[in-house]
Amino acid sequence: MSETEVPPETRHSSYRPADRVRGPIVTHPFPLGPARPPAGPARTPAHSAQRCEGTGACALACPTQAIDVKGKGRGSSFRLDLGRCVFCRACVEVCPTGALQARPDFELAVTDLRDLIVMHGSPRGSVAPSVPERMRAETQERVRRLFGGSLALREVDAGSCNGCEVEVSALAWPNYDLERLGIHLVASPRHADGLLVTGPVTVNMRLALEKTFRATPEPKLVIAVGACGISGGPFRGSPEVLGGVASVLPVDVWVPGCPPRPEALLYGIWLALGRVEQRLRRGELPDGERTAPARKA
Ligand code: SF4
Ligand code: SF4
Repeated sequence: MSETEVPPETRHSSYRPADRVRGPIVTHPFPLGPARPPAGPARTPAHSAQRCEGTGACALACPTQAIDVKGKGRGSSFRLDLGRCVFCRACVEVCPTGALQARPDFELAVTDLRDLIVMHGSPRGSVAPSVPERMRAETQERVRRLFGGSLALREVDAGSCNGCEVEVSALAWPNYDLERLGIHLVASPRHADGLLVTGPVTVNMRLALEKTFRATPEPKLVIAVGACGISGGPFRGSPEVLGGVASVLPVDVWVPGCPPRPEALLYGIWLALGRVEQRLRRGELPDGERTAPARKA
């Protein structure tokens, strides 16, 4: 067919060129509506103290030393740090009693790192007191007032494996369409209200991260993304990494995952904006809730 010849389908009287670009709406409503079920198996470990017999198999299987089991048998204590967890399910697979189960939870972002710690069998007094509810509410109110309905974020890769970047870039795709929420990923820190930081912060990236933070005008938010951004993740302990964003910058919101799925990132950003209540408290989610929280007015 020559370039000037009309394609056969366009000769049909009912053919409309717009048909080629029309299609179903692919954008998920979350966080304004329910999230879609996650693709693939559930990956968030959840621990049942009633079923645990303290064999310690989970701690031995964990590649990031996220689990600590002290003692043996029913009287043992269990500690799981979701900030170190890479959501590999190894602990779930080796647990002989089914005390560890994988759940599809993703609304795990927190403003206080201590809320990422799951503890059973230890005196609660051994955990430092959390940020009082009143202070959390005041901070969220201030953020709502300062940033209004929109947020410009500069993404900084501080040495990640790029897994988190894939998920961050997915936010801009039609499936998630970040901009419909008034949230923009911008190219310059001078245009940003905050930083979205991935990676364990390598020694080589420290200066760049500090300069980017200084170039961001006040007031500003910092969101640490992924196990790496929280604790160094699988790179923790390497002399080439500093072990998380907090080693360099003050962090406002932590988003666990390896990598966090786009819904988890959206939830973390929404939490930073004070549009949702934090769901994870002291490592516990309110049972029975699996839908998106209602949007605040
Ligand atoms: S799912 Fe998390 S806690 Fe369990 S073995 Fe993997 S990294 Fe460790
Ligand atoms: S958290 Fe996981 S996916 Fe993200 S940068 Fe670290 S290793 Fe990669």
